[in-house]
Amino acid sequence: MGGAIRGSRKMQAFQGLESNVRSYSRSFPVIFSRARGSIMLTEDGHKVIDFLSGAGTLNYGHNNHEIKAAIIDYLASDAVVHGLDMATPAKLEFMETFRSIILRDRGLEYRFQFTGPTGANAIEAALKLARKVTGRQAIISFTRGYHGMSLGAIAASGNRFYRSASGVSLSGATFMPYDGYLGPTVDTADYLRKALMDESSGTDRPAAILVETVQGEGGINIASKQWLQSVQKIANSVGALFIVDDIQMGCGRTGEFFSFEFAALSPDIVVLSKSLSGYGLPLSMLLIKEQLDAWRPGEHTGTFRGNNLALVSATAAINLYWRCSTFSQGVHHMGKLIRCRLEGIASKYANGMTVRGRGMAFGFDCRAPEIAATAARKAFEKGLIVERCGPGDEVVKVLPALTIDLETLNQGLEILEESLTETVEQIRPH
Ligand SMILES: *Cc1c(COP(=O)(O)O)cnc(C)c1O
Repeated sequence: MGGAIRGSRKMQAFQGLESNVRSYSRSFPVIFSRARGSIMLTEDGHKVIDFLSGAGTLNYGHNNHEIKAAIIDYLASDAVVHGLDMATPAKLEFMETFRSIILRDRGLEYRFQFTGPTGANAIEAALKLARKVTGRQAIISFTRGYHGMSLGAIAASGNRFYRSASGVSLSGATFMPYDGYLGPTVDTADYLRKALMDESSGTDRPAAILVETVQGEGGINIASKQWLQSVQKIANSVGALFIVDDIQMGCGRTGEFFSFEFAALSPDIVVLSKSLSGYGLPLSMLLIKEQLDAWRPGEHTGTFRGNNLALVSATAAINLYWRCSTFSQGVHHMGKLIRCRLEGIASKYANGMTVRGRGMAFGFDCRAPEIAATAARKAFEKGLIVERCGPGDEVVKVLPALTIDLETLNQGLEILEESLTETVEQIRPH
């Protein structure tokens, strides 16, 4: 791909202009000018393979041509782009398409609530609604969970670095151990059940239990079908809403449209964002069981709720990929190839590295943050974007577009393997 990728000298301009808070531009210090599918082009002409996919926002790749065509047609027709939450044909078509193609086939029935465009805003809305419906305050969330940066969402998120940046005391969430948190032999749902059933446990009856079926930022931690079913059952039996945060793992990432289908769950509220628009446009929504739709008109408002352009691309994505099961089967198939390859790499080093994943969401746990950091940096120099996650950033996250072609996928995995091998040799010389 034309020599090692070095940091662009123009990054200095960003240093002077953009706040210190910038983050991804530090890990990938070049200027990206164009992108298509799984390839991003830097301003000086390097091709970079994208295994980050906007942290799960680009499940259908960058600038997906067929989705783009729908956006261009919509813009060209002078249809309404912004109308607050006024009724438009684009919104109606999205809801009808989503209901008939996604919900009906899965035996699900929900109302749609479009929130502000960020995942965090949708989480805020979900927590507010749960508190309103139940008259309770406490939210149960899980160790290593991640739900966004606004105060309500960060209160329910585990990461100490992010929490402490809030500058106020974060309240309202009680953390329970996620599946596997105490090792493979402890079923942490037993503890949750005990804490919520015991009248003297010190844990208040919660308004909601908020869970990711696979923790994305927390390190690609996988909850089992049985654990998820137990948690849902516990929520139901204590009168708490069961909320699945499907912001990162939804929209096909784990193989099915919703990440909870494999466990046949029936969440009271589902939160979707990231890949929902199918094109990287901001769009977030809640799916709410009808009997829980206790909002009064305008109680959760916002300027950018259900942006029409994003609804148009979202509808196009559903029509393109979810009308039959071929796409889903492809994700499972690709996922198997990725797992096989990553497990092969992990077994070479014999230092406890492990692979976790479901569908096409994978974490390569390096055990040591410096290995993950060095490998990710080397990978970028060789033309691959991978990000790290987990409590100490010790996990390399592999999140290719679900539409990636086999050749690009293999090239990316090749680069990852080379980078890991060089890193392991460098850090622990034989
Ligand atoms: C990204 C993410 C959020 C927050 O979404 P934003 O759009 O960044 O506010 C919440 N939950 C999960 C699981 C996420 O991955």
